[in-house]
Amino acid sequence: MRAVLLGCPGAGKGTQSKILSARLGVTHIASGDLFRSEIDKKSPLGLKVQDYVKKGMLVPDSVVIELISSKLDACKEGWILDGFPRTHDQAEALDKWLEQNGQKIDAVVFIKMGEDEVVKRLTSRWTCGGCGAVYNLLTKPPQAEGKCDACAAALIQRSDDSEATVRRRLMVFNDLTAPLISYYKHAHDYFEVEGSQPMDAVTATLEGILAAKKA
Ligand code: ADP
Ligand code: ZN
Repeated sequence: MRAVLLGCPGAGKGTQSKILSARLGVTHIASGDLFRSEIDKKSPLGLKVQDYVKKGMLVPDSVVIELISSKLDACKEGWILDGFPRTHDQAEALDKWLEQNGQKIDAVVFIKMGEDEVVKRLTSRWTCGGCGAVYNLLTKPPQAEGKCDACAAALIQRSDDSEATVRRRLMVFNDLTAPLISYYKHAHDYFEVEGSQPMDAVTATLEGILAAKKA
């Protein structure tokens, strides 16, 4: 199974790809998660990308492509890509990798979502510093305030989830990533899912699409 999830920030790519990769037994490759973990470790890569991530700007293509290519090389059996590709050059780099490895994408799914709803969703999002579980004060609050239901670690807010930065991430998405929809619409098995539905409904739809592709 090789799938690409597209969608604006906050559309639910991360949440959905975590659930689906576990259910379908494929690796979840999330560029944003990889960058955040390098930033936490204060590694050379983390130091290089931290300003971009914090400001909601894209990390330069060459840096992203190098990182993701190494992940793709390490898991040739399959993956769900979440947050990559995000530019035309990244999409071309992925196509080149696929060609070199004699592989193809089984499905590209665009999770659609309106901007105002996304801003509301992201500015009320909290993540567990321990296990990475995601909460939302409006739709999925933790049982105890500020604490993870699963592991009791403290919940933290992403540094790029302030309203101004969310608006910038949406602008970047519209300018650079939205054009990939037409890139993929023609060349691949392409699907659209409405992201404002309840989370379980989105999961069920996505699982239906991907399971059919896997079979
Ligand atoms: P979201 O989709 O909610 O904006 P991500 O976790 O996917 O969040 O990405 C967070 C940040 O990481 C981005 O704003 C950007 O700075 C960086 N990033 C992630 N993926 C890429 C990518 N493919 N190209 C460039 N920058 C990226
Ligand atoms: Zn936790």
